[in-house]
Amino acid sequence: MIGAMDILITKSETSKLSSLDLGNVPFGKHFTDHMLVADYEDGEWKNVEIKPYQPITISPANAAIHYGQSIFEGIKAYRHENGEAYIFRPFDNFQRFNKSAERMQMPAVPEEIFIEGMRKLIEVDKDWIPMKKDHSLYIRPFMFANDDVIGVKPSDKYRFMIILCPTGPYYAVPMKIYVEEHFVRAVPGGVGFAKAAGNYGSSMYPTNEAKKKGYDQVLWTDAIEHKYLQEFGMMNGFVIIGNTAITPNLDEGTILAGVTRDSVIAILKDMGLTVEERPISIHEVVDAFNNGTLKEVFGTGTAATISMIKELRYKDTVMEFDTDKWTISPEVKRRLTDIREGRAADIHEWLFKI
Ligand code: PMP
Repeated sequence: MIGAMDILITKSETSKLSSLDLGNVPFGKHFTDHMLVADYEDGEWKNVEIKPYQPITISPANAAIHYGQSIFEGIKAYRHENGEAYIFRPFDNFQRFNKSAERMQMPAVPEEIFIEGMRKLIEVDKDWIPMKKDHSLYIRPFMFANDDVIGVKPSDKYRFMIILCPTGPYYAVPMKIYVEEHFVRAVPGGVGFAKAAGNYGSSMYPTNEAKKKGYDQVLWTDAIEHKYLQEFGMMNGFVIIGNTAITPNLDEGTILAGVTRDSVIAILKDMGLTVEERPISIHEVVDAFNNGTLKEVFGTGTAATISMIKELRYKDTVMEFDTDKWTISPEVKRRLTDIREGRAADIHEWLFKI
């Protein structure tokens, strides 16, 4: 076992922080001064190091590039008004990461590296966490195969890394969604539940086709009957019909178990709504729209928290919503943001102090 003491820290001599306005940074383009790197070789994790953010050198024969053993996570840290910093539910992402690793025949990353390494890295770069409403530090842990051998087989070597970038408010404009019936994101027995890099690469073509038709994202349907809701682009989906919030169940292994999804389920219950995790077909949604019981439709994810859907198109049926009148999803978003940013009590114990 690697103890926290074994993480070698080499600090950068200069900081890029002074050249940035933390109140106004584009997402995913500016990385903090340091990164964490660990190598898996000879059946064990070694060389765990926090060092200045810098390019990495890999072989042109790198196995991840050729055969796609590559997974990642997305997490956020927040600074509260009293200056203390917290990571939102990192253990949930840690567990999901190792589920992805198992499915991709990659080694598990121990907690001492994933959680303790993340905590230490953020401690080193803590001045990078914006202390402003709706701002946070985005945390990107990832792992890729690191053999330099051509040939389809699980790699013997892997690299695990964490990089960080400050992020501002995500102006979640209500989205137009196209219900996709031809292309699929995931199949039962496949890798939909894993945060595997290839899932994102393969979703780009169908998403671009929907964009050409004037839509922001696709609503993925199931691979067999093309009628059960799966995910809204890269977000989990919720439909509110009457006083019940319905979100697709995770049993088939085709849906990523979103940490925001789980948090939103808890908050909806706190608000007194009934929450059902079950298969929901697009026909049920259309029927509810037609009989006036469909109240709100939204996606959930770490990046945007909640994205309201203003138009949902299924075949020739166009369902339009006046999202300005919605009350439930804005309230869920407010409650979740207040917990994350320290304005409300952390009643579910979701915050992990750095
Ligand atoms: N589904 C997919 C495919 C995603 O990439 C994400 C973003 N990680 C989500 C759902 C939402 O997950 P989370 O709430 O954990 O960010």
